[in-house]
Amino acid sequence: MSTAQDKLVEALRKTVSRTSMLAEGSDPELDKVLQQVRADVSKTDDIRVVELAMRTIEPFLLKLDEDRLSKAQSFRDGLHQLLNTLEGLEHYQVPINEKRAFEQSLRSKWQSSTSWPILLQQFSELAKLTFTTKKDERSSSLISRLFKKDKEEDKASPQVEEVTAHICHKLIALVRDLQLPSEYENQAEDIISELNDHKDLNHLPILLDEVISLVLVAVGKPQEDLATYLTHLNKQLASINASIVTSYKSQKNLTAHREDFDTSLQKHVEDTNSALLEASDLGALKSLIGQHMVELSGTMGRYREQIKKQEEQATQSITNLKSKVNRMEKDATNMRSRMQQKIAEAMTDSLTNLPNRAAYLETILPLIVNSKKTNKPLCLAVCDIDHFKKINDTWGHLAGDKVLRLVPKQILSAVGKEDLLFRYGGEEFVLLIPASTVEECHVKVEAVRASVEKTPFNVEGQPVSVTISIGMDYLNANDDHESIFARADKHLYEAKESGRNKVVSGKA
Ligand code: GH3
Ligand code: MG
Ligand code: MG
Repeated sequence: MSTAQDKLVEALRKTVSRTSMLAEGSDPELDKVLQQVRADVSKTDDIRVVELAMRTIEPFLLKLDEDRLSKAQSFRDGLHQLLNTLEGLEHYQVPINEKRAFEQSLRSKWQSSTSWPILLQQFSELAKLTFTTKKDERSSSLISRLFKKDKEEDKASPQVEEVTAHICHKLIALVRDLQLPSEYENQAEDIISELNDHKDLNHLPILLDEVISLVLVAVGKPQEDLATYLTHLNKQLASINASIVTSYKSQKNLTAHREDFDTSLQKHVEDTNSALLEASDLGALKSLIGQHMVELSGTMGRYREQIKKQEEQATQSITNLKSKVNRMEKDATNMRSRMQQKIAEAMTDSLTNLPNRAAYLETILPLIVNSKKTNKPLCLAVCDIDHFKKINDTWGHLAGDKVLRLVPKQILSAVGKEDLLFRYGGEEFVLLIPASTVEECHVKVEAVRASVEKTPFNVEGQPVSVTISIGMDYLNANDDHESIFARADKHLYEAKESGRNKVVSGKA
């Protein structure tokens, strides 16, 4: 045998021997074969023995390589999954440079199992850094989309505020619509500004009580219908308030759930970190990480369920709230039209259909203010049917009623649209003539008297005379509604005294 051949056999022998030693410990069957191969090649210098030995161990070595590769691949995939998990967290941002460095290491080292602890350590550092970095909210991974629902949930707060504001605005509109005596105006303004400043929900019922008392003032006395409505309104608002409180509570719950989740997530990461530091064995490390991954996804699953449940509850409570407010609006609208109708009824005389004494007071006050402001005359004429008692007594009460309906028609036929006639009481009517010259007023009032004189009133085919006496006067700078009325009434008395069917006027 040549020296060259000897050297080759020697080299192959050593290679087989070393390879077999490296491969040992992976598989008991392989170990047996390897021991045999080493024993064979150590005693021989026959190349055929060495060749046979090499062919024997080759499939085992190939299989060993394949196993190693698939283990390394699953390690690499595991780390990629962990990285994805980190990246998917809603509130935390994986630092980009460290992430790239880690990915670079992973690409270059994943095949070498001796580098795995380093890679794991690097991942652990990356996780720590991630949990100290709050995310800016632009990305939208799978988990961030999950959490986004949570943010929409947070918007329940503006919705609740919207509803509260809506209620307050409704109440403000209600207060503004009230026709309040002037001494209540300040109180109304105070309530409106409190309603405008509706920050404290719990204050709402108190404000409502104040609104209710104002409404009662405006209406004059607590009507049964109104009282019932307000009690109803109060209940509705109380129930809305309760819904809002519930909604707030569920939001608080949600925050608590999120905090629990954060804490639990943090704990998983810490546990993983300490496991990484303590574990000496790679297999143990892998299984620990796998275990933590399972726990992590379990926590996330539970959290997702909670979010979903809370979201459904919140949606339901907002829907309830909206329908309650709608109901309230409808009730308020109905109540307002009923109130307007009642007010209109309360202002109208049913026999003559003329505005009554209450309406007269409502009207004359702004007319006085306007006349004083514009310096234009305001004439007040008190018209009283002459000997009306006699008509009643002679022709009966129904005939009297007929006269009461005929006389205002005659009066109105003699005046303009801008002139206002009221049934002040009994057979007494008040005529307000705004913004005319004194001469025009005299002409008009005289025409009124003459028109009533021509009232077409017949009983049993016989014409019956109907006349009125009129006392009139003009507003002066010091007048209020009572003083001008008193002067006109005095002139009426004078007209009666001087023979009836007459006009007596004060000086303008
Ligand atoms: P004078 O010319 O002084 O005003 O005399 P008079 O009879 O008109 O005045 P008096 O105050 O004595 O009588 C008013 C009467 O009007 C008394 C009351 O019974 C009657 N009266 C008041 N309201 C009504 C009503 O709604 N219908 C009818 N039919 N009569 C009424
Ligand atoms: Mg009278
Ligand atoms: Mg009379």
